[in-house]
Amino acid sequence: MAAVIELQEVSKVFEAEDVRTRALNDVSFSVASGEFVAITGPSGCGKSTLLSILGLLDTPTSGTYRLRDTPVAAMSSRDRARIRSAQIGFVFQSFNLLGNLTVSQNVELPLRYRGIDPGERKRRVQEALDRVEISNRARHFPAQLSGGQQQRVAVARAVAGSPTLLLADEPTGNLDSANGEAVMAMLVELHRAGSTICMVTHDSGCAARASRVIRMRDGAIEEDGQRTAVELLTTAAVPAGDQRVEA
Ligand code: ADP
Repeated sequence: MAAVIELQEVSKVFEAEDVRTRALNDVSFSVASGEFVAITGPSGCGKSTLLSILGLLDTPTSGTYRLRDTPVAAMSSRDRARIRSAQIGFVFQSFNLLGNLTVSQNVELPLRYRGIDPGERKRRVQEALDRVEISNRARHFPAQLSGGQQQRVAVARAVAGSPTLLLADEPTGNLDSANGEAVMAMLVELHRAGSTICMVTHDSGCAARASRVIRMRDGAIEEDGQRTAVELLTTAAVPAGDQRVEA
């Protein structure tokens, strides 16, 4: 299958005063269309740096990054921003919704930036809110929602633009276990429907829901393992009591 992501010998060095930190050290891997990859490893191993590079929020010090066959590492920040807005959806640990916009306005905003016409925007917002089962809160403001509901809105915002790549940074980190499970179930469902997902997590339960786990250590890949369909089925089972989420 076509590669969505191709990283070749990507390194990232941070220089601050006298301190040089090699956050990534010759990292190479590809992600095929439709994969659900979990990136795990101890604090400081380079997960966030890697996700920032994948999301075109930062650039490698050396090495190449091809997103859908387009070399993106050396692009101007303007071109990167254009590709980011057209092709990448983000879900953050802290939800990052805009407090002065309603739920539907938050989901609509990235579609506005992309110049999608109002009728199509309305259709996509409704579809995305239905998908995460939060349409009944469309006119609410983020502060009126629980953490679990806010993260569902963030997932709706990320998928409304049908991105090539969905990036999630500790998406359940600020949620209790029932809401965390609901968000994981949503990511699993998006994966089943064909989305390509890369998720940073230090939660082994979340990582176990992905189809592939990349384990990092000291800025390098320590282990890269595909999971079989049988393994996925056995980790997908969740106690019934954990699936409840407040409406
Ligand atoms: P993780 O997400 O796995 O906790 P990070 O990618 O945040 O790891 O960090 C990897 C290493 O790079 C750490 O040693 C961290 O201190 C360093 N680092 C990350 N960002 C910066 C930065 N902007 N400036 C200097 N050092 C940084």
